[in-house]
Amino acid sequence: MKLNKIEHIGIAVKDIKEASRFYEDVLRCQISEQIEVPERKIKIAFTEISGVKLEFLMPTDKGSVVAKFIEKRGEGIHHICFEVDDVEKATAELKDMGVELVDDSPRLGAEGKKIIFIKPKSTHGVLIELKER
Ligand code: ZN
Repeated sequence: MKLNKIEHIGIAVKDIKEASRFYEDVLRCQISEQIEVPERKIKIAFTEISGVKLEFLMPTDKGSVVAKFIEKRGEGIHHICFEVDDVEKATAELKDMGVELVDDSPRLGAEGKKIIFIKPKSTHGVLIELKER
């Protein structure tokens, strides 16, 4: 498998509006409209800096994995996403190599592209997302 680029960096925040006070007012980033992802009980929003996005993840429910992440570790970097050409192929390769994945097979992300997450256990502590080009 070949990683094309860092597609985005996921940042867990308690409140996207609150976070925009720093990211928009201080860093002058433009944060997109919030997108609801009901199956993960989060809302997300993006900003882009020369082709690399920041993905803000805000829990909408205490039961969300992002809420649990913030409870345990506080706000901050949640995952790094790399772009690959073929997520199905990458998933098969990872499985062959015994790498632990969060889901059994790829699913569609909020932007309608195939994604898969690799467990931090297999990556020296970083939740890695692979996203199809
Ligand atoms: Zn992501």
